[in-house]
Amino acid sequence: MTVEDPVLKLSLEILKERPLCDSCLGRLFARMGYALENWERGYAIKTLLHMRLVSELRRGADVMEHLKSLARAHKPTRRFLASIGVHVQEEQCYVCGGLLAGVEKYAREAAVRLGGIEFDTFVVGTTLPKEVLERESEIVKKYLITAGESIKHEVNRRIGRELLRLLSGKRVDKLRPNVVVRINIATGEISIARNPVLVGGRYLKLSRGISQAQKLGSVRATLLEKLSYIRELFGGVEHVVHAAGREDSDARMLGAGRPLVVEVKQPARYKAEVAPLVDDDIIFAPEGPVTRDEIRRLKERSRVSVKLYRALVHSERPLAEEELARLSELSGRVVTQYTPRRIRRRSPRRKRTRMVYEVAWRRVSGHVFELYVRCQGGLYVKEFVHGDGGRTTPSVAGVLGSGLEVVELDVLAVE
Ligand SMILES: [Zn+2]
Repeated sequence: MTVEDPVLKLSLEILKERPLCDSCLGRLFARMGYALENWERGYAIKTLLHMRLVSELRRGADVMEHLKSLARAHKPTRRFLASIGVHVQEEQCYVCGGLLAGVEKYAREAAVRLGGIEFDTFVVGTTLPKEVLERESEIVKKYLITAGESIKHEVNRRIGRELLRLLSGKRVDKLRPNVVVRINIATGEISIARNPVLVGGRYLKLSRGISQAQKLGSVRATLLEKLSYIRELFGGVEHVVHAAGREDSDARMLGAGRPLVVEVKQPARYKAEVAPLVDDDIIFAPEGPVTRDEIRRLKERSRVSVKLYRALVHSERPLAEEELARLSELSGRVVTQYTPRRIRRRSPRRKRTRMVYEVAWRRVSGHVFELYVRCQGGLYVKEFVHGDGGRTTPSVAGVLGSGLEVVELDVLAVE
């Protein structure tokens, strides 16, 4: 054997043991000679080997076994040998079994399936038969291949490239793709997952009896229902709302509103101009697309953010201005609350503590006063006012020594 070039020498050594298709041979040397597809590299190696071996045979060298090995996976060599009366059977590629030859067909199928969706970005993931991966790693280990590319990488790359060609104007986005194309090469199954559309914004609630999502008791309508126009706009199957905390359904949400993300699941399109919603109950001001991280930040922030509430309070006994002045002692206090009676059926019994930063008031009449509370997010404000039968301490009712009832509650600011 007089083939001296290291790539040719190693290739011949491998081909003597295992027939490999052009792609699977070329892939072993993928990092040698960029801008060549693996099959081009593999085909070139086989062509060179063919030329060397044929000229050596003509010089009288004993290379017939080498030629027969090469011929199993190289048509020109089979043709040459046939011309001198030696017939060799074509054999399937040891690693991929011929799978790689037409792998682009999956891209064509996927492109058809993606036809009904208006999207910008995608990513392709493939599942290869386990045996293929095992046989590949066997070759890589045995011949100490260090400049190769993995078969999975080649398949993803080739299908991705073909999809890019077929779907002009689309981009690959590995981090946050609109759609995820999954192809199981073993079974031929193609699945397409449409990632949700996330629209960020803020909402104001101008009237009472509106909840975020649950329609219980005196709730007339939900924010969720009112925002269904966004689901329709994107042609989604379902939508949910993620807000930075929530107010009671009978409380208004005023001021600059509360941050909210509308998630539209399985949308049919990804680009649409979301118009603001303004009706008698709700204002929703969209602020543009957001990422899932934003939902997480929203939820985290709602626990530490500062809220400003206004409550209209009715007192059992008339209160004088001097008595209300006692409320200043509640500013800067830590309030301990056991799960309120009104929600105990829905929540487990827990103790929580929240800061009340500032309390201010305005006497309206003997029995009625307005209360302003600046506090940490998560304070049960109604309970802070009436004391919830001693479950919340300190409380406004406790300080004033009178039974209190919250007539109206508004959130004025979510800071
Ligand atoms: Zn192959």
